[in-house]
Amino acid sequence: MMNGKEYLESLRDGRVVFLNGEKIDDVTTHPAYQNSARSISQLYDALHNPETAPILTTKTEEGHLTHKFFKASKNAQEMIEARDAIAEWSRMSFGFMGRTPDYKAAFTGSLGPFSDYYKGFEHNAKKWYTKATKDVPFCNHTIINPAMDRHKPLHENKEVFVRAVEERDDGIIVSGAKMVGTSAALTNYNFVANYSPVDLGEGDQSHALIFFVPMNAPGLKMISRQSYEQMAAMQGSPYDYPLSSRFDENDAVIVLDNVFIPWEDVFAYKNVQIANGFRAETGWLNRYTLHGCTRFAVKLDFMAGLLMKAAEMAGTSQFRGVQANIGEVIAWRNMFWAISTAMASDPLPGANGTVLPNSTYATAYRVFAPMVWPKVKLIFEQVVAGSLIQLPSSSKDFLNPEIRPYLDQYYKGSGGVTAEERVKLMKLVWDAIGTEFGGRNELYEINYAGNHENIRLETLKFADKNGQSAMFTSFVDAAMKDYDLSGWTNDKWINASNPKSSSLV
Ligand SMILES: Cc1cc2nc3c(=O)[nH]c(=O)nc-3n(C[C@H](O)[C@H](O)[C@H](O)COP(=O)(O)OP(=O)(O)OC[C@H]3O[C@@H](n4cnc5c(N)ncnc54)[C@H](O)[C@@H]3O)c2cc1C
Repeated sequence: MMNGKEYLESLRDGRVVFLNGEKIDDVTTHPAYQNSARSISQLYDALHNPETAPILTTKTEEGHLTHKFFKASKNAQEMIEARDAIAEWSRMSFGFMGRTPDYKAAFTGSLGPFSDYYKGFEHNAKKWYTKATKDVPFCNHTIINPAMDRHKPLHENKEVFVRAVEERDDGIIVSGAKMVGTSAALTNYNFVANYSPVDLGEGDQSHALIFFVPMNAPGLKMISRQSYEQMAAMQGSPYDYPLSSRFDENDAVIVLDNVFIPWEDVFAYKNVQIANGFRAETGWLNRYTLHGCTRFAVKLDFMAGLLMKAAEMAGTSQFRGVQANIGEVIAWRNMFWAISTAMASDPLPGANGTVLPNSTYATAYRVFAPMVWPKVKLIFEQVVAGSLIQLPSSSKDFLNPEIRPYLDQYYKGSGGVTAEERVKLMKLVWDAIGTEFGGRNELYEINYAGNHENIRLETLKFADKNGQSAMFTSFVDAAMKDYDLSGWTNDKWINASNPKSSSLV
């Protein structure tokens, strides 16, 4: 497993990243990425820290150490431990980094047990499982296509969506772009596949692909969105933007311009069935939702604490309505922890003696998290209210002796809280929900597991497939079987026209 230093070194590999019209030389020293890179490097160091290593790591079948979620779990106990490892890493960014390296372990961890699924590429799947458990690489993932032509099958868009443009003896050449890869500039590999409400369809199958590509592959280019980390660095100190300045997972559009992919890194090639089915049929969906739900639960722990402290400082914590709102945030937090625990402790059988997080409970996470984050945000806006705007422009105001006395007097909090402490907390709350970082975070939670309709439609599809729908409708049939136009159809109840019709006394 890489340590933090090795991870940072791995990013100095000639990758091509564009930001604000410039090509970035080294993401580990550039103000747009350097502290987010350090937040990730701390995760890698935690794997080797004697205090956290027992929570985070375990031995693989081959005997090497790995992060617990990178290894396929064999039973509920291992799955719960893997969940706890996810939570431990997530706490290091207070739940604000969603695509830490263990996110993609949701996929790589399934490659070993489900290697047979990848017909023709079974060996690659096995090899990648071992490689991922050994190195614990940081992989981004790009499964969504640029936002155009959503009304057409993929193969009708040959200019934009990623497709194979040439087949060679040693691999394929691919071209096209993906919507975004979160944290792409800070990763080692890009994972490419398709998640689309529109099936890949019949006809030309050059889009039906699944592969990994190293971030420094010739022809791979990343076009970053604006960097909130850099904006934070330019505008103030971490005091002003405590989250933006270290947890910004810069989302980049990934352009593949005639990139060579050796066969060893391919899992599906012109195979619609495999490219469409891998999410549901190899347990990736079960596993990534365990990661997402656990990370979300950690984040709600943090939000509950923030709300409690903010109410204390404003002197509102004794009001009944404020307490009810804090209680609601705690209840949401409890619900997502319950889903996460249920997913891990009541797993489903996987392949080859492994288990998978329970996908039935996962659907509740997928549908409710996008509803709950905006609700939690609204609670902050209603309860913390104007405190979020009664703030000096930046930490520099505290350094100006002319206004410092006013700040100390008028910005302080209840119960002896100094202005410096109160403003520090309010700026933390605002970064969580209101800054550009906060806004992106909301968009992330809402779209994390697919568009708002698809997450609901897939819940229905799963219910149809796993027998839930049949169970629900036959439950209703049981109620309707008891009566018809002539009254009760059995003797459990009394027919008004025949008082002796019930056999039960
Ligand atoms: C902050 C952030 C980070 C992200 N990071 C990543 C990442 O790392 N990797 C990655 O792969 N993706 C990433 N995404 C993309 C994310 O997965 C998608 O935004 C999400 O799946 C929703 O898809 P979409 O944006 O393409 O919207 P669409 O699916 O196009 O949905 C938009 C609207 O159109 C409707 N619609 C779309 N298609 C149809 C149809 N066929 N029939 C009927 N209605 C339809 C939907 O119901 C919805 O109302 C990220 C997104 C955000 C916001």
